[in-house]
Amino acid sequence: MASSAGPTLAAPVLAGRRVLLLDRARMYVCGITPYDVTHLGHAATFVWVDALGRVLRMLGVEPEVCRNVTDVDDVLDVAASRASAPFDAFAAIQQYHFEHDLTALHVRPVRYEPRAHRYIEHVIRLAQGLEVAGHAYARSGSVYFRGQDVAAEAGLDRAEALRLSAEYGGRPDDPAKDDPLDVAVWQAAEAGHPAWDSPWGPGRPGWHAECVAMAMSTFGVGVDVHAGGADLRFPHHAYHAAMAEAFTGVRPYARAWLHAGTVTVGGVKMAKSAGNLVLVSDLLTRFTPAAVRLMILDRRWAQDWDYSEEALEAAAARLADLYQAAGRAGPGSGSADAPAAGEVRRLLAADLDVPAALSVALDDGGAAARLLVATLGLD
Ligand SMILES: [Zn+2]
Repeated sequence: MASSAGPTLAAPVLAGRRVLLLDRARMYVCGITPYDVTHLGHAATFVWVDALGRVLRMLGVEPEVCRNVTDVDDVLDVAASRASAPFDAFAAIQQYHFEHDLTALHVRPVRYEPRAHRYIEHVIRLAQGLEVAGHAYARSGSVYFRGQDVAAEAGLDRAEALRLSAEYGGRPDDPAKDDPLDVAVWQAAEAGHPAWDSPWGPGRPGWHAECVAMAMSTFGVGVDVHAGGADLRFPHHAYHAAMAEAFTGVRPYARAWLHAGTVTVGGVKMAKSAGNLVLVSDLLTRFTPAAVRLMILDRRWAQDWDYSEEALEAAAARLADLYQAAGRAGPGSGSADAPAAGEVRRLLAADLDVPAALSVALDDGGAAARLLVATLGLD
């Protein structure tokens, strides 16, 4: 967006907050646990992160995206043993399918893609540091992070926090803990799970601690944006931030959070257990990647939404209108400096307001529509 007036300030609004940026943005996104096929609910989060990266690039900021692979995970262990496969080989195959689907959706490759099993030493150091700083304690071969304040920080009452903790594998009923809201940074070895040596005996990293180790190793004490699905808000992201801040003393760990809305089918959250998975690979046999992207992006990112075949058909029709608009001359004779193009740029920088930007692009056509198509990867 260079112009004759010189460089322009990059000050996008994210999650309602202005985030001043110089020339790069450190973006960490919680990636997949590679235990099953990629469905639309997962893909939507990564398409949003991709769109944010493209908008930042439009503003002259290089997005440095780190999307981890949680290949050390209790759910993955169960799936791998059911398939009679070693956890790492099983994960590698699932990761291949995931990346294949994202590439098909024109999601740009990310700069960093750390895999949890390579960060065991980092998690051990994290646990040692938290223990030395008084934020964690070793017991029965595990190391627990003191988490009694995390619920309040996240704006949850204790009962709701305990319910979510149990739902997401936090084991609030583990009798070794001082407080049910404490979580394992390091988990003592158990049958059916991989184990590594540690100062506390054999064991494996805790889920939140893995992400902390990967984010900190990649970016240092903090990130500009941390992204993930809305269901990761608590406990995963709340504990990630709390552990990172306790370890480094630097607050806030993340300048902005992007929690992409949950995708439902007929009002029910998309999940394997619900039997309502919509697979990206299936959609792409009938629709273009751009139509699928537009269906995902034509809303505010935090909004929950319901998938339907009609929604996808509507997105495909809207995309055809957008292409037609892009072919018109439009006001400002097609220059990227046309006022309407500037308005599209402004709206995308305003917390990724795609619906408003799309409306301007459809009304004014020409450069505004072409800018939107190019920026959101809709070509
Ligand atoms: Zn994470």
